[in-house]
Amino acid sequence: MNCWKNNFNEKTLKQGIKYKNDVENIAYDGYAFNATVKSKFDVELILQDNLLYDMNCNCSKKSSCAHEAGLLYFLEEFPEILEDYAEETDFEKISDIDINGDLKVISESKLKKFLKKEFRKNPKLKYNFIKHFSSESLIDTKAYERKLKQILRNGGKEFGYYKLHNMRTPLKNFIKKDIYTLIQQNEFELAFKLLNNIMDHFIDPIYWSDDAWYEIAYYYREYVTFLLRHGKFRKEEESHVKKNVDKINDIVF
Ligand SMILES: [Zn+2]
Repeated sequence: MNCWKNNFNEKTLKQGIKYKNDVENIAYDGYAFNATVKSKFDVELILQDNLLYDMNCNCSKKSSCAHEAGLLYFLEEFPEILEDYAEETDFEKISDIDINGDLKVISESKLKKFLKKEFRKNPKLKYNFIKHFSSESLIDTKAYERKLKQILRNGGKEFGYYKLHNMRTPLKNFIKKDIYTLIQQNEFELAFKLLNNIMDHFIDPIYWSDDAWYEIAYYYREYVTFLLRHGKFRKEEESHVKKNVDKINDIVF
């Protein structure tokens, strides 16, 4: 794969270097490499014994264009792509292997390293991954809900009402640390839900005589006001929160 540059003139090579970052959708069908360059040009490379045999692009240039050079530069930078495709793989056999055991012993850092490598080779996979995890958060929602329940339970109840003063510190920390971190991670929905979960427990006037309530109400108001401005929530949720905030404003601020 070393001599391919001879097929291109200086100017095209310079442009090709720039295009190597715009290579997407690499696929190999056992005969040719196909890729999209700059989102609109379909480039095809035919390699034989690791030598460039032929190439095509659907742009207006008849031969040796910068898109082809871009893909070649890209492959030069990530030679493992060629190596991997060159390996004969028996997919039928692999599909029968149960990978659950293997997955258990792989460390997170190794997994991340592997994913990064695969993403370079396969932008489609990268796209699917991002799409999947942007709608399905990586955050363990249940763990946060459990923690909040635990705090409420540990604080205890009296005559059917929570002993707010008992849980003052853990509850404040939960809001100021856990929920704050969620907001920083753009986990707005969960933060919103947890904040309301807390306030719905303590909106009753019976709690207003407790100092702790004013602290909790202060952070609640701060955070939900931010969330209402930056997140998207269901209409009824929003109006519910606005009512809570109005109530707090009437009482305290
Ligand atoms: Zn082209």
